Amino acid sequence: MNYRECYDKGKEALQTAGVPEAELNARLLLEYVCDTDRNTLLVHGDREVTATEQEAYAMLIEKRRSRIPLQHLIGVQNFMGLDFQVNEHVLIPRQDTEILVEEVLKNLHDGMRVLDMCTGSGCILISLLYYSNGCTGVGADLSENALKVARHNAETLLSGRVCDDTDDGANGRAEFLQGDLFEKIHGKFDIIVSNPPYIEREEIRELMPEVREHEPLSALDGGADGLDFYRKIIDQCLVHLNGGGMLFFEIGYDQGEAVKQLLIQANFHEVSIVKDYAGLDRVVYGTRF
Ligand code: GLN
Repeated sequence: MNYRECYDKGKEALQTAGVPEAELNARLLLEYVCDTDRNTLLVHGDREVTATEQEAYAMLIEKRRSRIPLQHLIGVQNFMGLDFQVNEHVLIPRQDTEILVEEVLKNLHDGMRVLDMCTGSGCILISLLYYSNGCTGVGADLSENALKVARHNAETLLSGRVCDDTDDGANGRAEFLQGDLFEKIHGKFDIIVSNPPYIEREEIRELMPEVREHEPLSALDGGADGLDFYRKIIDQCLVHLNGGGMLFFEIGYDQGEAVKQLLIQANFHEVSIVKDYAGLDRVVYGTRF
């Protein structure tokens, strides 16, 4: 079989199983297996695919048919232009979350100290450090398995980006701590950012099988009204936020007003809601007195 025939077969197998974006998935899996790119597949559609590659492709197509997320099969997700390793222990970085990172970057100045609460793959903290100068940060998560992924990502993406003589690469700039929210956190930060679990518990069964069955429930479940983590983080963050420091949250599309009110009640000022490119509320932030 050649590239074209393999791709057609893969696409059809995904389509008949009702996998969303079957064409894209079939192509990305073939690129992955044959270690090639979109252009080569297109221009050299008649190139033969080895038996080993055909076998590996068929196996991945089968797994994708069972709704294992594409990113778990290829092991990476691009976020903010950086390739993050992912697995079943972390939430796959979402494009929506880039809005959160962009809002923080507007307020992140050289040398600031950042805390990423519920860091998962580390994608938020690592992007912030990658695109700033001399900043340092802590990523906290309840899951030690998630932190293994985050540490690996920090090592591959931040090492070599030494910001001054005393900096020793990723380990000096990003530290990852296992604990229940602020349990292991010491000291104060200029910015605290979080994309906590925020799905209403009853809504979880409505999610796509990729998310519902393969992503960590603990990264999704925000309690009965989805707001449990916002309440806890707002309550516990005050002692860890410098005066004038800022708190940034990703939120669900219908949680903007509720989270804004929680921040106002906790005496945050200049509380704002930011929309994503779909026009939906996506980020809420405020400044501590
Ligand atoms: N945005 C994610 C989703 O739609 C949920 C992320 C979260 O709960 N933090 O699945």
